[in-house]
Amino acid sequence: MVQYAAGKLPSRKLVSIWNLPDLRHIEGSDDELRIGAACSYSDLRENAIVAKEFSLLATAAAWTGGIANQNRGTLGGNIVNASPAADSLPALLVYESDLILISSRGERRVRYSDFHTGYKQTLLAPDELVQTICLPRRFSGHTAYSRKVGPRNAQAISKVSVAALGHVSNGAVDDVHIAAGSVAPVPLRLRRTEGVVRGRTIDSALVRAARAAALSEIRPISDIRSTATYRAAVLGNLIVEFFQKLAGESR
Ligand SMILES: Cc1cc2nc3c(=O)[nH]c(=O)nc-3n(C[C@H](O)[C@H](O)[C@H](O)COP(=O)(O)OP(=O)(O)OC[C@H]3O[C@@H](n4cnc5c(N)ncnc54)[C@H](O)[C@@H]3O)c2cc1C
Repeated sequence: MVQYAAGKLPSRKLVSIWNLPDLRHIEGSDDELRIGAACSYSDLRENAIVAKEFSLLATAAAWTGGIANQNRGTLGGNIVNASPAADSLPALLVYESDLILISSRGERRVRYSDFHTGYKQTLLAPDELVQTICLPRRFSGHTAYSRKVGPRNAQAISKVSVAALGHVSNGAVDDVHIAAGSVAPVPLRLRRTEGVVRGRTIDSALVRAARAAALSEIRPISDIRSTATYRAAVLGNLIVEFFQKLAGESR
C-alpha cells in the first residue's frame, strides 16, 4: 500500500489475496504453530496460542501502525515488504521460524533466517507466495524481552527495535536468541552476541561483553529517522536491559 500510494508499483492491476482461505488460518499442532501469511495483526492479537506462547509476536502486532493498519496489514506482507524496520520480523527471527513458499511448481520450506538476502532482497521467486509461517512451540519457558524505540508510542516507524529470548539453567545462560531491527540492511539476528554469552553466568562482565559484541555486528546507517551513532547507543542499552531482565527472572 505504501508503494501503491507513492506511485512506485510498475502495474496498477493488482490481485487481492485477502480472501484466500488457505492463507487465513492459524493452527497449532503438538510441535508448531502455523500462521497463514494473510492473517492480519488483529488476527494475531486475538489468537490464544500467540498470546500465551509467542508474546514477542503479539507485542509486535500491537506496535504495528494503528488499529486500522492492524485490521488490514498482514504478517506475510510485513515479511515480503522486507523493511529492516518492520516490527514483527525480529520476533520471527528469534522464534526460529520457517516459511512455506508455494507456486504452481509446488511448495518449499525455507528457514526464515535465510529469507532476507540484502536490503529489500529476498529468496522469494517471482511466481511464489508466502503461504505459511511456522513457529516451533518450544520457547514458552524462556524469558521474552522486546522494545521498540521510536519518536512516539504509536504510529511510528522504529529507530531501533530488539526482540530476545533467553533461558538460564544452573546459573548459566543455556539458550539465547537476539534479533534487532533498523540496525542493518536486513532484520538482523545477533549470532555473535549469542555466542559470547552462551554457557556463562550473567554478571557485569558478561553484560559488557554482550554489548560490545552486539555493537560489533550491527551496521546502522544515518537516515531521515535517526543517526547511526544514536542507533548504536540505543541498541547497546537495549542489550543491557535484556540481560538485566534475564538475570532478574532467573533468580
Ligand atoms: C499508515 C501505515 C503505518 C504502518 N505502520 C507500520 C508499523 O508500525 N510497523 C510495520 O512493521 N509496518 C508498518 N506499516 C507497513 C505495512 O502496513 C506492513 O508492512 C504490513 O504488514 C504489510 O502487509 P500488507 O498485507 O498490507 O502487505 P502489502 O502492502 O499488500 O504487500 C507488501 C508486499 O508484499 C507482497 N506480499 C504480500 N503478501 C504476500 C504473500 N503472502 N506472499 C508473497 N508476497 C506477498 C506484496 O505483493 C507487496 O510486494 C505501515 C503502513 C502504513 C500504510
